[in-house]
Amino acid sequence: MRLKQLIKTLEQWALLSLQADYDNSGLAVGDPEMELSGAVVALDVTESVIDQAIESGANLVLTHHPIVFKPLRNLSGSDLVQRCLRKAIKHDIALYSLHTNLDSIPGGVSHEMAARMQVTDLQILQKRSGELFQLSVMVPNASMSKVMEALFAAGAGRIGHYQDCAFVTDGEGCFMPTQGANPHVGEVGKRHVDKEQKVEVMVSAGDRSRVMAAMKDAHPFETISHQWLALDQPHPEVGYGVVGTLSESMTPEAFINHVKQCFGLKVIRHSAFATDRIQTVAMCGGSGSDLLPLAIQANADVYITGDVSYHRFFEPDGNICMMDIGHWESEQYTKDLIMRKVQAEFPNFAVLQSDQPTNPVLIS
Ligand SMILES: [Zn+2]
Repeated sequence: MRLKQLIKTLEQWALLSLQADYDNSGLAVGDPEMELSGAVVALDVTESVIDQAIESGANLVLTHHPIVFKPLRNLSGSDLVQRCLRKAIKHDIALYSLHTNLDSIPGGVSHEMAARMQVTDLQILQKRSGELFQLSVMVPNASMSKVMEALFAAGAGRIGHYQDCAFVTDGEGCFMPTQGANPHVGEVGKRHVDKEQKVEVMVSAGDRSRVMAAMKDAHPFETISHQWLALDQPHPEVGYGVVGTLSESMTPEAFINHVKQCFGLKVIRHSAFATDRIQTVAMCGGSGSDLLPLAIQANADVYITGDVSYHRFFEPDGNICMMDIGHWESEQYTKDLIMRKVQAEFPNFAVLQSDQPTNPVLIS
């Protein structure tokens, strides 16, 4: 398999356009045309992770965190980032990352945390706008079922727990083919009037190109009357962080033990508990302090994230308990998430989870 094939699949799953402005997800090193011999999956790019790839005969390192965040002025090897890049280039190892785009998708980083904690009925904490479109397309009656099936199969009309959602209105279409046209019905120079239906469906940004291609393929007309509208409302399934519920409430002490067990932790830093039973739990993998007000708004009993600084622990102010379980610790299962995707899509491709400890924060 060529690198570009894997990238195409990964970017259909976690659209690059979903990444934050400051982010640098995607291909950092490597030729998209290169033939892949295997991949190593890690949370971070380190020299030891690249060494593991070299030793195992893999020529791709897939990570959650991108290696390059700041512009580089040289590649002299004077810091860790430069040394990693030099090593990767020297050994023809590609580096690819899925960062804030993977944080944002349904089933992404925070969903994986929730799954590990048996927190279900998930809602997105910070839903993202600009990710929903409405497609309206006029279809001759005889081709309706073919076009509808094609649109639905390509991902159109999925809203929450519903699929195949569409609104259809009856109408009449008219057109006159002119010189050079090759009409499916009607004749050049004569106005044609026929029964048509207007189909309106919601489409996620990630499905837009697939839906467009499916529509063109299934529609009988050479020129298709259609329009795309960008919708204002936030996408209910795309964004940062999740909130959900435990099947049974727990005491604060039992909940702390539960979190420790789920994430393999010795200690947890947290603010005071605001309730004596814990059932609604919000979380965001990585540095998610900024989402605290949304967790309070969602009536969560606890908000779990990483990288919480001293002063931010005052912000819960009796409304919620905020827990800092560590940045790496909160995202550790992202490796499994990436592994599962690659294995499901390419069952014969050799992909290995790195056993190199990349967490720079040690707890002694
Ligand atoms: Zn992170």
